[in-house]
Amino acid sequence: MMNGFGLRTLAAIGIIVVAGAAVFLIGDVQASLVTLIGGIAAVLTAAGIGDGEDDASPVATADPTPPPDHIPAVIDAIVEPILIVTSGQVSHANAAARTLLGQHIIGQDVRLAIRHPGAAERLMSPPSEGAQPPVNLVGLGAREQRWEMRIGDAAGGRRIVHLVDQTGSYAAERMRVDFVANASHELRTPLASILGYIETLGDEAGDEKELRERFLKIMFDEARRMQRLIEDLISLSRIEAEKYRLPDRAVDLAALIEEVRGGILDAQGENAVPIRADLAAEVPPVSGDAAQLSQVLHNLIGNAMKYGRKGAPVTIRLERLPTGMVRFAVSDEGDGIPAEHIPRLTERFYRVDTGRSRAAGGTGLGLSIVKHIVERHRGRLDIESTIGTGTTVAVMIPAHGSAVIKR
Ligand code: ADP
Repeated sequence: MMNGFGLRTLAAIGIIVVAGAAVFLIGDVQASLVTLIGGIAAVLTAAGIGDGEDDASPVATADPTPPPDHIPAVIDAIVEPILIVTSGQVSHANAAARTLLGQHIIGQDVRLAIRHPGAAERLMSPPSEGAQPPVNLVGLGAREQRWEMRIGDAAGGRRIVHLVDQTGSYAAERMRVDFVANASHELRTPLASILGYIETLGDEAGDEKELRERFLKIMFDEARRMQRLIEDLISLSRIEAEKYRLPDRAVDLAALIEEVRGGILDAQGENAVPIRADLAAEVPPVSGDAAQLSQVLHNLIGNAMKYGRKGAPVTIRLERLPTGMVRFAVSDEGDGIPAEHIPRLTERFYRVDTGRSRAAGGTGLGLSIVKHIVERHRGRLDIESTIGTGTTVAVMIPAHGSAVIKR
């Protein structure tokens, strides 16, 4: 009954399905790619494009042979672009490949279909033993899109060309590189300043008491700036490391808000910025990590104090939403934030006014830390601001069970 569609063919189709599922479900593209291409090559071989070993196949030795009827259907089911190249020409292209390269590519010279010198060179080179490194292609399809081309050799001189979209991982890599560059720059500036003052103090300025004290104060401030930055960088990496671990402790936000508020007021001393707390009477606890939620409050209250109107109060509200979420919001009466900046405020080191942020001791990482903590809590962050009136940053976190804390 297998009739030219032997056990090997079925096994090979199985490999494709498993590899395809791994690519699209688990996202482990690299590991599944080799299996995927190998599987397609095996289907072609097993289905009679042939090595002549599969005696059950009636088309075992025919060459050149069109791909068996089921091959296009199998390849079409794969969402990434796949081409089958026979004697340098595209003999089949799945729907994704035709969308990317054009509907006309069937029958075309593969070098014209994929207009890329690196790809052409590899496609025209004779088949080699062992796995070949992939070729990186830029500018195929949209200009900023990046692809990785992998080639598998099947029997009968056919080649299976698989294009993997690498645009997302390239963007992630770019962000990582930018982050390292920004962090190094942020650390280098205060360090250069400290080294400069040490040198000056070593010279004649060190003898003058007044000058020496002024320089030491600047050096202390710069060292503190570096310390804050390093603390925020460590925080960010810790939060990212555990971002998939859902916090599950019941946290009483009202008590936490009072604790953080008290701590900040005590630390400020006499000329404290007034911090008001408007806390609803019956609010359920949230599923959370108390230390991280305290960090969110510190960062939001800190920003409201830094960027709020001098002497005007900062207000913290806490309420239960009908959706089952608990919302807390920190409002100030500052100058507000122009709308075009709001979507970018949670990016690392993004500041509306770098000078003002630095002068107020900001690291440019506070809202990025807040965003990561809120994401870990499966919550939501909203920033609303009106120029000349002020800013409200609100956080919504899912409630923990149905219990209500009465105060
Ligand atoms: P920073 O350490 O610079 O305060 P954040 O990540 O906490 O860094 O905030 C990023 C930027 O967002 C700040 O530099 C500031 O320009 C702006 N910002 C944050 N909170 C407020 C606020 N309450 N009012 C006005 N601007 C704000």
